[in-house]
Amino acid sequence: MPLDTSQQLTTVNSKIRKADKNKPAFTMYPNARRTVEDCTTGVLKVSRNKKISKDKLPMIRKGEFAGYVIFTLTLEERATCPRTCYHWDDCYGNNMAFAHRFNHGKALEDAIEREIAEHCAIYKGVIVRLHVLGDFYSVDYVKHWQDLLSRHDNLAVWGYTGYAPNSDIGLAIRAVRGGFGTRFSVRFSNAPDEVFSANSTEVAEEESGKSAVCPEQTGKAESCATCTFCWSAQTRQVLFLTH
Ligand code: SF4
Repeated sequence: MPLDTSQQLTTVNSKIRKADKNKPAFTMYPNARRTVEDCTTGVLKVSRNKKISKDKLPMIRKGEFAGYVIFTLTLEERATCPRTCYHWDDCYGNNMAFAHRFNHGKALEDAIEREIAEHCAIYKGVIVRLHVLGDFYSVDYVKHWQDLLSRHDNLAVWGYTGYAPNSDIGLAIRAVRGGFGTRFSVRFSNAPDEVFSANSTEVAEEESGKSAVCPEQTGKAESCATCTFCWSAQTRQVLFLTH
């Protein structure tokens, strides 16, 4: 009897190992997938990552977005990412067995819309770190964030994308950033020819005035909440020490 789709996925996933090259376009941890219905506490999570903020209610401490509460969104790695991603095989999601990955699509987008409206009505401001895992999976999904930024003037976004700057999704991201500036601070990953990029130290070296290694990684900043470099340094590249 032929396998149905979920059986096929399980079969493929069961074969993935960290050391494998050319991994299929799924997470290694299928049991960590979640639907919107699975999670009554919402898809946007108040950040608990100490590298992002050490505060109980994580909040940006300085600059343009001071006082904005930090939320995160986690999607499925590889399933939402470009195959050209520099870290396709060694994605740090390979070491995050327990992170809940939300299935992407219309239900997720509806939930994001609902929750952004709720949070923006409660807090001074909301800043969302996109995406802990995963990426902008379609041009329409990028436009969804554009629409949310239009409707909520106390919303901001920061993050990184593996899509190439000249891909359809990359061009859509560039267009939203052109319209919203620092409020949509999505850097191109491992694109050293781009000013607004985030590069592994494997592909770019630190240069004074041009780039800086993430201060949290070098111990010069406590967390993103106190650093803010990724969105406040619009004309400099950020470099990450390779994981
Ligand atoms: S450079 Fe600053 S804002 Fe960017 S990831 Fe590092 S600590 Fe966070």
